[in-house]
Amino acid sequence: MNLANVPVTEVKGVGEESAKQLAALGVTSIAHLLAYFPFRYEDYERKSVTEARHDARVTMEGVIQDTPSIRYYGRKKNRLTFRMLTEDVLISVTLFNRAFLKSKLTIGSAVTVTGKWDQHRLALTASELQLGLSQRDEEMSSVYYGAGKLTSKVLHKWMVNALTQFGEHIVEPLPFTLREKYRLIDKRKTIELLHVPESPEAVRQARRRYVYEEFLLFQLKMHVAKARQRQAEEGASLTIVPTATDKFLHSLSFTLTEGQQQALKDVFADLRAPYRMNRLLQGDVGSGKTVVAAACMFAVANTGNQSALMVPTEILAEQHSASLQTWFAPFGLEVVLLVGSLTAKRRRAALAKIESGEAAIVVGTHALIQETVSFHSLRFVVIDEQHRFGVAQRRLLREKGVHADMLFMTATPIPRTLAITAFGDMDVSVLAELPAGRKPIDTYWLQPDLLPRVLGFMEKALRQGEQAYVICPLIEESEQLDVQNAMDLHTQLVQHFAPNFEVGLMHGRLAAFEKEEVMDAFVKNEVQILVSTTVVEVGVNVPNATVMVIYDADRFGLSQLHQLRGRVGRGEAKSTCVLLAAPKTEVGKERMRMMTETNDGFELAEKDLAIRGPGDFFGAKQSGLPDFKLADVTHDYRTLEVARQDAAEIVSTGALYEDEAYKELLNLLTEEGVFTETKLD
Ligand code: ADP
Ligand code: MG
Repeated sequence: MNLANVPVTEVKGVGEESAKQLAALGVTSIAHLLAYFPFRYEDYERKSVTEARHDARVTMEGVIQDTPSIRYYGRKKNRLTFRMLTEDVLISVTLFNRAFLKSKLTIGSAVTVTGKWDQHRLALTASELQLGLSQRDEEMSSVYYGAGKLTSKVLHKWMVNALTQFGEHIVEPLPFTLREKYRLIDKRKTIELLHVPESPEAVRQARRRYVYEEFLLFQLKMHVAKARQRQAEEGASLTIVPTATDKFLHSLSFTLTEGQQQALKDVFADLRAPYRMNRLLQGDVGSGKTVVAAACMFAVANTGNQSALMVPTEILAEQHSASLQTWFAPFGLEVVLLVGSLTAKRRRAALAKIESGEAAIVVGTHALIQETVSFHSLRFVVIDEQHRFGVAQRRLLREKGVHADMLFMTATPIPRTLAITAFGDMDVSVLAELPAGRKPIDTYWLQPDLLPRVLGFMEKALRQGEQAYVICPLIEESEQLDVQNAMDLHTQLVQHFAPNFEVGLMHGRLAAFEKEEVMDAFVKNEVQILVSTTVVEVGVNVPNATVMVIYDADRFGLSQLHQLRGRVGRGEAKSTCVLLAAPKTEVGKERMRMMTETNDGFELAEKDLAIRGPGDFFGAKQSGLPDFKLADVTHDYRTLEVARQDAAEIVSTGALYEDEAYKELLNLLTEEGVFTETKLD
């Protein structure tokens, strides 16, 4: 019997009318009904004063010690208070608007009360009271979201009926090996415990089992879809030998980190393989993603094909194309820059080289995806700061190539949890370590009125020949005000530091050539202080800069602050980041503290995610997360990782299709249409 096909009306007590109400909750079959879980549990397990946690909801029992007193206030409101002896601690119990109970609450009688516990005052504000001890036979009960006549109690009764009538037909989808490996209780028991909880621990076990199953199914879908996509796109592969990049790598002044080497291997395997690569290269700011991309482009160029690197800003495009030119000039590979601000003449020349194939590597902004741009043989596409581009833009660039392999790079560390879920159909390479010799950045959080001391500190660094960034206050949704702020701050700092040090100004309203001039002056140390709105957030590399001061730091997200901080700490000298902020909320203060406590972008991203939730992290639409019934990607991410590994293995070994133990999982996936859906992306 497939419970998905049995209507709810088969459950004792559910008539046509009730069925309609259930349908409004999305429940039409018994399978639906049994998956309509309580949103919380009442815990009636009796607690002693020593066990009870402050502010928690608890149940206590004891003996009444005095005659309850009643106070009337407002219209028809009253408060009843009495003292009660629990074990040997005297506590005070308060009930609101239950004056009518007074006659029943006599000295010496036993009562059981449930409510909110105040550990400091040894007081309980009760919402429930029962005369006598140990009245309840169950220690927990389930609470459902009801609707209209469908109360939580009614729903619970139907659950119990459904379990009694149909429990034996609950199918176990997980093979025994997996259940044994993780000590998971069976499916039927899981569902029973979720509706009829025996103890908090039993519910925890049931939840753990259910969450694993949800994640495993989700990951299986991802992996099956990916495998199908690969089959569909068979045909494109490049011949790249492992030594293809040796010459380039030897020409660098440093050796690659282990992470960089592994990422290269990953990408080469994808380039060689007969499927389209779809890989995310994640690495903290300064972890050296660009070199990895460069080595890949070098290898592709040597197969006679073109690569394109798309970045979000012109400054970044110029900086990347300059470093690539320096790296590749000795090998006779031509790097061409394509940005919106090129003169008509330079633009024509660039387009011609792109079309003829003379340009082995093309670096640019959105200008790359315009219709007039046509490549000779684009086979490899790198997108830097990938989250700044929409899906459509990424696709446009891809479609300028022939079976072009895609490498997405991001320096906004995406929490593992989201990388796995939102990008579950992407492969991921991670640069976990920074290149050797990098010194951690000291971060301080100061109140804004300590600015004079910050300026003093800056001056010391400047006297040692170092440079500083000052990031301006951010005023949401008003670029005009941001610019005004930047100009004011610039004037202020010019006055303070004249005539010893030069102060530059950078903001979004400057023309490209002006930005270039300012940046250039900062790179050459003709300007020692760069005042900027957040336009420096991405990419720029000035190793001599050692001080980063951020105004109104509490207005930025943790990941963004981390990005900004990553502009310093790139050279030999010790670097410092100063956050000026006076956050008003506890969460705001906590975020500033986090910044001072860790230099690990991934850790910060995880924390950011925990604070903001996955929807906010990418914007609700983009998060790409399915609706899980019980699972929570933030809190259950360990389980998610485990499920992901299991799913990968089950699909890649073919066990899903061949092994009898996976029959039920395969059925579930088939029912959900995983094998008939046509297109991802
Ligand atoms: P990302 O783009 O990941 O923020 P970059 O690629 O801009 O980082 O690298 C930051 C700096 O570190 C660059 O100057 C780069 O040349 C240098 N770099 C990259 N890899 C290494 C390495 N393995 N050892 C030393 N320096 C490196
Ligand atoms: Mg970069």
